[in-house]
Order: sequence, then structure tokens, then C-alpha cells
Amino acid sequence: MSKHQDSFIARENAICAPNYLPIPVVIARGEGVWLWDIDGNKYLDMMSAYSAVSQGHLHPRLVKAVNEQIKTLTLTSRAYYNDKLCPFLEKLCSLSNMALALPMNTGAEAVETSIKAARRWGYEVKNIPNNKAEIIVAKNNFHGRTTTIISFSSEPDYKKHFGPLTPGFVEVPFGDADALEAAITPNTCAFLVEPIQGEAGIIIPPDGWLKRVRELCNKHKVLLILDEIQSGLGRTGKLFAYEHEDIEPDMLILGKALGGGFVPVSAVLAKQGILDLMGPGSHGSTFGGNPLAAAVGLEALNVIVDEKLSERSEELGHYLMDRLKKIDSPYIKSLHGRGLWIGMEVNSKLKSGRTVCEALLKNGVLSKETHETVVRFAPPLTITKEELDWGLERIEATLKELS
Ligand code: PLP
Repeated sequence: MSKHQDSFIARENAICAPNYLPIPVVIARGEGVWLWDIDGNKYLDMMSAYSAVSQGHLHPRLVKAVNEQIKTLTLTSRAYYNDKLCPFLEKLCSLSNMALALPMNTGAEAVETSIKAARRWGYEVKNIPNNKAEIIVAKNNFHGRTTTIISFSSEPDYKKHFGPLTPGFVEVPFGDADALEAAITPNTCAFLVEPIQGEAGIIIPPDGWLKRVRELCNKHKVLLILDEIQSGLGRTGKLFAYEHEDIEPDMLILGKALGGGFVPVSAVLAKQGILDLMGPGSHGSTFGGNPLAAAVGLEALNVIVDEKLSERSEELGHYLMDRLKKIDSPYIKSLHGRGLWIGMEVNSKLKSGRTVCEALLKNGVLSKETHETVVRFAPPLTITKEELDWGLERIEATLKELS
């Protein structure tokens, strides 16, 4: 690490709250799947800002959309209508087969929005007694960091000294449909879940689980809310991860790649009869649905569809997994994932995920550990086979060097 980079790291550590433990590199530029540090060293981005840069850094079509929009109109708030919001939401609803959309900014805000909408539906449609609504969630979930969302996290660190926490949530094991059915009561308004758990380490549920979940939700009149903030928009090899099981949720939450790596854009999408209950005054956001975000969101979706990024993720995801499986290293405990979204579980008796990420950094590959033992590989979905090979050679070499 150069003195130049050390000084930025020291300055950031001195002025910025220590709520992250970044990999020690100071990035100054990005293009496609590549990032450069302030000394001009080049890295392959295998992390894509937690899957928010699926279209690659500075995608030319998104740069153009931003440039055009910032010359015209950027912010009105929803005090007025604007000419960019409806084309964006129409596209989003047509791709997801949903009736209505509620635009927000960050993922956590959209999750909060879905919780409010589900509770309102519970009181006004299912006739749950006031303040008694329950939402079932999965163990080891990750849905964001607001006070309500951390209230139903299974991670003690996420909650410590942030109480009092929000009541009304019940936890069941991920991937266990019987446990879900046992937890449903007449006051259950929704089951909120990630179809594949991302931050937990890219955990794939058993085949058929989501289909069974859909049936149970229908049987007991419970809304199925899928948080596809990380798994959605092509990451798993389908536009939405729920397509792997051929079902549809009642509410779908999207974010991250919806902003194409430019601005925060998130949305809650729902079937008829849910978001319609969110009348004027029930909810809002100054920036949600702003024309700049809507122009970026529309082009972000168009790039995913036009460039067939879901299909690319499916094809190259298999290739990445096959090549990783062929690496003979005592440090790899297991590999799991779908599409270009793979978690490599490190043998914790030998190394930590952090040590592996820091070794990868030295060889020009950027990743980040999750839950201490999992190194994730989630490059922009625009990556080519040659670029992936470049990364795989370095991953292999790094694992060899570590021994
Ligand atoms: N939901 C899921 C599944 C996520 O992976 C994340 C972020 O990693 C969030 C919600 C929170 O999104 P944000 O960080 O934009 O608030």
C-alpha cells in the first residue's frame, strides 16, 4: 500500500464513523468491470458494490441518460407529476407482472414501505385487530439497517444497544415450509423473505420450498413479500430469483441495480389491492420517484433486458462455479450460489474470509467477506468470459500463494 493511499485511509478513518471495515484500497476510477486505485493499479471488481453495479461501472447508456436528464429536470418531489416517473414504473410493472409500484430510494426504505403496506392490508383487508399484525421472517435474514428492520434480525451485533426494538415479527428457519405453516396465526399478514439469502452467505433454499411457501400463503391468506434487492434484476440468472420456482410474490422489493450504480433507486411492487391502500399522507419520500432516478431506473432496466444480462449471468455463473470447483485448495470449504453470485466458504480453521480478500486485493481482485468466513464473487453482469478468466487465474494463484 502506497503512502498516498495510507493517508486517505487514515483521513477517512479519522473523520468517518467506523461502522464499516473496508478492504484497504482507495478507489478513484471505474469502467465496466474494472476499478483503479489512486496510484493507477487496476482491479477486477468481483463485488459490484453489493450487486448494485450489475450493469458495470459507468455504463455508456446510463452515462447518457444521466447527462440528458441533469440538463432538463432533476427533482420535483411528488408534490407534482413528472414526465419520467410513469415510463419507469410502467416498465417495472410490466417486467414483474405487478399492478402498482411505490418508488423509494434505498433498499431499507423499500423494505420499510412493504412492511407498512402489509400491515395496512392486514388491518383493512384481512381484518386483523388493530396493532396485532404479525409478519413472519426468516432466520439469518438481511433486509437493511433501520430500527424496525434490525428488530427482526438474528444478528446480535446488528441490534446491540439500539433498542427498544419494534415488535410484531416472528422468526422461522430459512427454507423450512413446515415451520412457516406452524408459525402462521390469524394475525399473520405477511411472510417477508429473500428467495436466496445474500448477506447470510448466498444461501440457496431447498428445491420446491418457495413453491410450497406460495401455496401456504394462498391457503392462509398471507402476503408473500420477496426481498429481491440483491437477488433480483438478473443476478441469479433469471430477471427475478422467484422465476427459478415458477411462482409470483404478492409484493416484490427491488433496489441496488435499479439505480445502475449511479443513484439510489428502489421500489415496492404489488398485485392489485395492496398498494392501493396507501392513500395520500400514508407514506412518502422527498426523493422517491424523482425524475433523475426514474430516468436512470428506466435505462438501468433497458440495459439489463437489451444486453440479456440475466442470460449472461446464468451462462457465466455455471462457468464460474465449475472453474471454482476445480480449484484444489484446503482453504475452500464449500461453494454455493446461483448465476454470477457465488459464495466461497473459507475453511475457518485455516484462514478467515478477510485474509483471503486481502490476499486477492494484492493480486488485483476485489471482493469482500461476509460473516467472517464467506468470500463472495458477484462481478458486474456485463463481464466477459475473458475477464472472468483473468479473475479466475488470480483467484487460483492467490489460494496457492496462501498455502
Ligand atoms: N435487502 C437485501 C436483501 C439486501 O441485500 C440489502 C443490502 O444489502 C438491503 C435490503 C438493504 O439495502 P440498502 O443498503 O440499499 O438499504
